[in-house]
Amino acid sequence: MNLTDTGGRDAPIFAPDAFRLGDEEAALIDKARRFGARVLSPRAAQHDREATFPIENFRDMHPEGLLRICVPKEHGGLGASFRTYCLAAAELGRYCGATALSWNMHVCSTLWTGALADDLEMSAAERAEHNARRPAHYRRIVEDGALYSQPFSEGGAAAAGAAAFGTEARPVAGGFLVSGKKIFASLSGAADYYGILCTERAEGEEASRRNTLYLAVPANAPGVSVTGDWDPLGMRGTVSRTLLMKDVFVPESELLMPHGVYFRAATSWPHMFLTLSPTYMGLAQAAYDFTVAYLRGEAPGTPPVKRRMFPTKQVAVAEMHVMLEQTKALWFQAVSEARANPTKSQVLRAYAAQHTVMENANTLAAKAIRTCGGQSMLKSLPLERIYRDSRCGSLMLPWTAEICLDRLGRETLYEPGEKDE
Ligand SMILES: Cc1cc2nc3c(=O)[nH]c(=O)nc-3n(C[C@H](O)[C@H](O)[C@H](O)COP(=O)(O)OP(=O)(O)OC[C@H]3O[C@@H](n4cnc5c(N)ncnc54)[C@H](O)[C@@H]3O)c2cc1C
Repeated sequence: MNLTDTGGRDAPIFAPDAFRLGDEEAALIDKARRFGARVLSPRAAQHDREATFPIENFRDMHPEGLLRICVPKEHGGLGASFRTYCLAAAELGRYCGATALSWNMHVCSTLWTGALADDLEMSAAERAEHNARRPAHYRRIVEDGALYSQPFSEGGAAAAGAAAFGTEARPVAGGFLVSGKKIFASLSGAADYYGILCTERAEGEEASRRNTLYLAVPANAPGVSVTGDWDPLGMRGTVSRTLLMKDVFVPESELLMPHGVYFRAATSWPHMFLTLSPTYMGLAQAAYDFTVAYLRGEAPGTPPVKRRMFPTKQVAVAEMHVMLEQTKALWFQAVSEARANPTKSQVLRAYAAQHTVMENANTLAAKAIRTCGGQSMLKSLPLERIYRDSRCGSLMLPWTAEICLDRLGRETLYEPGEKDE
């Protein structure tokens, strides 16, 4: 069967013709989809059960080019754009949420320093500095399959964008001494480099968000350690333990963006925070796909019992279909229009898209369980894992579901600078 736009199981989430994807873009997304079905899917249950990091998935991504999907072409990468990456990540999310979310952390270190940074305003000196530094990061990934992670969260207001990071980098000769703690550090113990956000602060200086540094801390540097256990509800394969750094010397060459540029990126390229959503777009599709297959008596690992003849189940599938199409349409628009200095309505739409994907993924998974019935939530089937994984989406800072609503309401009703006395 030709799966390109037949609506068949494992058909692309965004059919290239219907969504008018370019040939190169469609081919990259197709590569991710096939990889997910062939490589991620058979390994997902075990990593979920054992809460182990699926390192072999990442080793297998290297020859496929998936680790360098967003490395610019002139540096040996596949040069995927923001949208292409998002659509490819959604395809991986269908098969293993934990791998897709961890992959997001790795890929963002190349997307943000690549296509996104190219779109940012920088002075000639900053641009030259950035262009001189980034090839070393890309080379490690392209040649050695190095893994980068993205531990930003600290348990306080910094990852929500409301305070300076408590992790600090003290300037010293040739680099920085970094100290601090990052919670929920996905890929902890597996990454070769931790792409951290920290506050550059000299003795006696005030901590300021403007002085946020985006820095690659080598995992084997003296003073780096991983601590705590990891036994969460969902996304168990991300192994997001706690990262500690105590007076870690990090050379200046490990800057992922020049001084001050991360703050500019966060304010002028806000869609960068939408990159946590593709995984959950994939999980939403997976919950729907499972339901259709199960009710038809075709879900792998289940007896060929059909349940599709009951009108209540047909209505539930119809409602799921409506919700999935609504989710896809809004999200596709948001990831398609992402750019530097977006309009107000584009930013509001990005919040709406993030909120919709994160909440609907779990709503769809819950509805899938209710509709399919008791046997569908056995641990021998993927649906209960999809349900648990999808529950984690709306907690992801800085754009948690609550924060998206908060900003949507405020930024709709107030123009910048407006106040009520
Ligand atoms: C599976 C999984 C993997 C993760 N991987 C990573 C990772 O690789 N890297 C990473 O950096 N993080 C990661 N996270 C962390 C995630 O993004 C959150 O930062 C984390 O869940 C926050 O936990 P918390 O309980 O401190 O959150 P919360 O208490 O919800 O938020 C922390 C702080 O943010 C502020 N805040 C929260 N909500 C609001 C609000 N509505 N209005 C104003 N301020 C608010 C408050 O100061 C609050 O104390 C991961 C999370 C999960 C679940």
